[in-house]
Amino acid sequence: MLRFRLLVQWGMLFWCSLLGIQLGLFVRHFESGGTTAYYSRFPGVEAFLPIGALVSLKNWLINGQVDAVHPAALVLFLTFVAMAGLTRKSFCSWLCPVGTVEELMWKLGQKIFGRLWHPWSWLDRLLQSLKYLLLIFFVKLILIDMPAVAIKGFLAAPYWAMSDIKMLHFFTGLAGIPLLTIVVLLILSLFIRNPWCRYLCPYGALLGVLSFFSPSRIRRDSQVCIDCGTCSKACPSRLPVAMKSQIISPECTGCLTCVENCPQPGALAMAVLSKPLPKWLFPLSVLSIFSIGVITGMLSGHWQTSLTYTDYQRLIPLIPLLTH
Ligand code: SF4
Ligand code: SF4
Repeated sequence: MLRFRLLVQWGMLFWCSLLGIQLGLFVRHFESGGTTAYYSRFPGVEAFLPIGALVSLKNWLINGQVDAVHPAALVLFLTFVAMAGLTRKSFCSWLCPVGTVEELMWKLGQKIFGRLWHPWSWLDRLLQSLKYLLLIFFVKLILIDMPAVAIKGFLAAPYWAMSDIKMLHFFTGLAGIPLLTIVVLLILSLFIRNPWCRYLCPYGALLGVLSFFSPSRIRRDSQVCIDCGTCSKACPSRLPVAMKSQIISPECTGCLTCVENCPQPGALAMAVLSKPLPKWLFPLSVLSIFSIGVITGMLSGHWQTSLTYTDYQRLIPLIPLLTH
């Protein structure tokens, strides 16, 4: 099952890279004045607009309308929220490309140095609170404080229309402090497991909070368990699996590493309402929820942007001028 998860993760990373390349070729066509070949833009890139998706969510909640400029941003956001509500923070360990890269780095670090480092538990807890503070900041700023008129203004502005391309430019033109931050996080990931996910990612924090409602959780049968402690040692989120009868922590990503490493058949399983699931059912559920979300968006007409070729022709040259 761990191999299958790796396959899904790397498949997703590969797919995200293709989305980025395709968007780059799409933009190049307009920047060259139409002299280079035209490639269509895949709406999946809108998964990288979580803050805009939060604004779009508020618009949907107060006006009942799905933003037509980047509808896939909201569809994907709601899909990941549904995943968290049903299959814990599985987005983080199965789909998120950032999680995949971090996992690669700490596994590499473990191979090179023969071990990983863990911050003292007081420091670990303090650092973990950062991602919740960031989450509170965005929820307050957008869901609570942003007035309806500002929401409408944001979603109608050229800045939002070009936000996916601005995001692409951010990554292709990385320099200065953002580049330094990414390099530092990558180097840190060689020594510490998932520093971005564990300490800083507000998206992961949101999904973790929502995972409290998930009916699925890791359960340990203390009658069968031989108390070897292997599950706790294997857990990438450093959860004390061997000490608990069930794991309800927001840090559990449903990666199933603990289950795969347990040497005692029947001692540990992902369970729904106390019923252990067959090993294949949890991964199938994760992928099914994701697929259903995307297909629903496509079939309901909330996937493709309303922006036309002429809109892109007009707006792409203006991008350097768009600050908000
Ligand atoms: S408790 Fe198990 S499923 Fe949850 S994060 Fe740890 S290893 Fe993964
Ligand atoms: S790895 Fe399995 S047998 Fe060992 S402590 Fe964990 S649940 Fe019990």
